[in-house]
Amino acid sequence: MPIDPSLSSCIRRGSWCFIISSYFNAVRNWTKEHLKSHGIPVVADLPLGDNLQDHISFVSYYKTKQLVFNSPNKTKSFWTLARYLTTKSGVLTTPGGAESVAFISTDPKRPEYPDLEIIGVDMLFNEDAIRDRLGIDPKYAKHYSGVNDMNGFTLLYTLLRPKSRGTVRLKSTDAMQHPVIDPRYFENKEDVDSLLRGIRFSQELTKTKTFKSQEAELFHKPFSPCLENCKFDSDEYWRCYIGYFTQVIFHSTGTCKMGRTEDPTTVVDPRLRVKGIHGLRVADASIIPSMISGNTNAPCIMIGEKAADMILGIKPPTPLSHL
Ligand SMILES: Cc1cc2nc3c(=O)[nH]c(=O)nc-3n(C[C@H](O)[C@H](O)[C@H](O)COP(=O)(O)OP(=O)(O)OC[C@H]3O[C@@H](n4cnc5c(N)ncnc54)[C@H](O)[C@@H]3O)c2cc1C
Repeated sequence: MPIDPSLSSCIRRGSWCFIISSYFNAVRNWTKEHLKSHGIPVVADLPLGDNLQDHISFVSYYKTKQLVFNSPNKTKSFWTLARYLTTKSGVLTTPGGAESVAFISTDPKRPEYPDLEIIGVDMLFNEDAIRDRLGIDPKYAKHYSGVNDMNGFTLLYTLLRPKSRGTVRLKSTDAMQHPVIDPRYFENKEDVDSLLRGIRFSQELTKTKTFKSQEAELFHKPFSPCLENCKFDSDEYWRCYIGYFTQVIFHSTGTCKMGRTEDPTTVVDPRLRVKGIHGLRVADASIIPSMISGNTNAPCIMIGEKAADMILGIKPPTPLSHL
């Protein structure tokens, strides 16, 4: 379905949807009413569970004539295993995950910041991988059946600074029940625009000397649901495709936003203390106010270390630039 930019949009189960409520969530704090509706007394009225952000990415396949890296069938072969066991060489010596990473800036308005991260994976993600690892709806993952038999590699184009904001809410007062997570990916149209620029970049890459030397070509099977209303390779076609083949890479942040105490959108102050509650701090990915342009694990370790220093009263080290 082509996207009407005037509407607020999101993705659910691989399909575009439009939500009006998103216009209001930005200006209303739901937390108090939400807790009351579950019969939970409100101790501090804080926007806990708002501001959910995550890194999302789409998969780009590059087919090569020869084996450049791995391919699932080669990895599983007896000879590959024998070679590894006898000579400790061959495709099994590669980490088999994200072998390369690049950061690119595609937004002409913000050239100083990378807006996309490219994660290089040394094999083609087949149907099983995009269904089971990336969580693409099995109905659509089928589109990539048969990729196993090809040589090539995969690049994941990841949106670094999403503008869309989701929510986490309680389903019930039973702590064992999963919460209601509404990520609202692509609610902000600029997020789709960034990934679309990534698609155009992925096409340009094949024209480079290096890609040509490996005879690397983009592999893309036209996706019929997006051809109903859009011309193949048009911006609208790709916007539609992004709606079906984008997945999350598990970098959830932001639902316990850190910031100035007087800012009504924050939950913890700059010393990670929960506003209005004595003796309670939060030190994890949820305090990150605005998504970082990189992976989240190292920053989370930093947050934990910093929290420990603040609790112990250890002063921050002098910045190197001052030495
Ligand atoms: C599949 C996957 C792949 C990822 N890959 C990368 C990557 O390659 N690079 C990268 O930088 N980041 C990656 N991340 C993101 C990174 O792991 C997270 O951003 C980071 O771990 C978040 O740290 P955290 O402290 O906020 O939460 P967590 O690391 O989730 O820590 C929460 C802790 O709380 C514990 N816990 C939960 N409930 C309770 C309870 N009731 N009582 C006591 N303890 C409890 C949990 O057991 C856990 O130890 C990945 C995440 C996932 C899920």
